[in-house]
Amino acid sequence: MKRGPELGLEMSEVPEPDVGPGDVKVKVMTTGICGTDLHILQWDRWAEQMLHPPLIPGHEIYGEVVGLGEGVHDVVVGDRISAEGHVVCGVCRNCRAGRRQLCIRTSSIGVQRDGGFAEFVVIPQENVWVHRKEGVTPEIGAVFDPFGNAVHTALKFPLVGEDVLITGAGPIGLMAAAVCRFAGARYVTITDVSPARLALAETMGVNAALDVRTQSIRQAQEALGMSEGFDVALEMSGQPAALQEIVANMNHGGKIAMLGLPSQRFEIDWSSVITRMLTLQGIYGREMFETWHAMSAMLESSSWLHDAISSVITDVIPATEWERGFAIAAGASAGKVVLDWREF
Ligand SMILES: [Zn+2]
Ligand SMILES: [Zn+2]
Repeated sequence: MKRGPELGLEMSEVPEPDVGPGDVKVKVMTTGICGTDLHILQWDRWAEQMLHPPLIPGHEIYGEVVGLGEGVHDVVVGDRISAEGHVVCGVCRNCRAGRRQLCIRTSSIGVQRDGGFAEFVVIPQENVWVHRKEGVTPEIGAVFDPFGNAVHTALKFPLVGEDVLITGAGPIGLMAAAVCRFAGARYVTITDVSPARLALAETMGVNAALDVRTQSIRQAQEALGMSEGFDVALEMSGQPAALQEIVANMNHGGKIAMLGLPSQRFEIDWSSVITRMLTLQGIYGREMFETWHAMSAMLESSSWLHDAISSVITDVIPATEWERGFAIAAGASAGKVVLDWREF
C-alpha cells in the first residue's frame, strides 16, 4: 500500500473491500509487477500527478471470483479471471461506439482506485476476463495485461510475410516478438542494451537480437538479406534513439506502432516520415475486448506461443517478499516478475 505522498510501499492490514452493484470481488492469486508500479514505488513526478494515496497499487491481476455485486451477469463465483486494468466511462462517444480503448475518461485500477497487490480486489464486471478454457496458469493469467499490450501493438498492422523491427526487449517487447513470429512475420529483429534480455529474445523466434551499443540495425538488415528496410516496427522502449533508428531503417510506406512511453519530448527526422510516407500509430492499453479474445485464442491454438509467453515470466515471488520482487523488476536482467498471493 502507498500510505502517503512519499517514496516506498508498505504491507498493511486493511478491511476487505465492499462489493458494490455491478462489481466482482476477486481473491487474488497472482499479480504482475509493471513499470507503472516501479514509478509508484519511487514516487516520481508521474506518480505525484496521478496518485492520491492511500492506495493499493497493482493492475496485472489474476484470481478467483469469490463475490458478486447486485446485477452482475455472465460471471459466477469460482470463475478464474484476469482483469482489464482500464475502467472506461461507458457513455462517451468512443465507448458508445464500442471503441472502449479510446474512452476519453479512462481511469486505471491500481492507479486511481485500489488494485491487486492485495488478497482481495473489487473490480467492475466489465473489467473481468473469464478464462473459459483450461491452460491459462495463474502465472500467465497475471500477465494478460502486458501480454495484451504486446498483442495490441503487434497486431495493429498486418504481419504476414513482413519484416519486423522491435525496439526494446523488456517483457512486452519479448512477448510481442513471439506474437510476430506466431502471426507469420518473415524476419523479426529485436534490439536492447541488456544481454540477459537479448538472450531471452533468442528463444522468442527472432532472427536477430541486437545489442545497439555495439551492433547496427543497418548491418543486421544486410546480414538477413533485406534490401529495402523494415515493413513494420514496434517501438517498445520509449527511448528517443530507438524511434530515430526505426525511422532511419523503415521501407517506404512502413508502419510504426508505438507503445513505449517517452519521458520527454524529442526530435525525429520528419522529412523521412513524410517523403517515405511512414505511418506512426500510438498504442495504449488493449482493445476491449478483441485483444483479450486474440490472447486467449492464440494461447489455446499454439503450445509454442504458450511456452514462449510463459518463459518471459522469469520470477514468481511470494507476496510477503514483495520488496525482493520489486528489486528484481527494477533490474534490467529479468523478464516479468509476478507476486504470488496464494500462500497468504
Ligand atoms: Zn502494467
Ligand atoms: Zn468513455
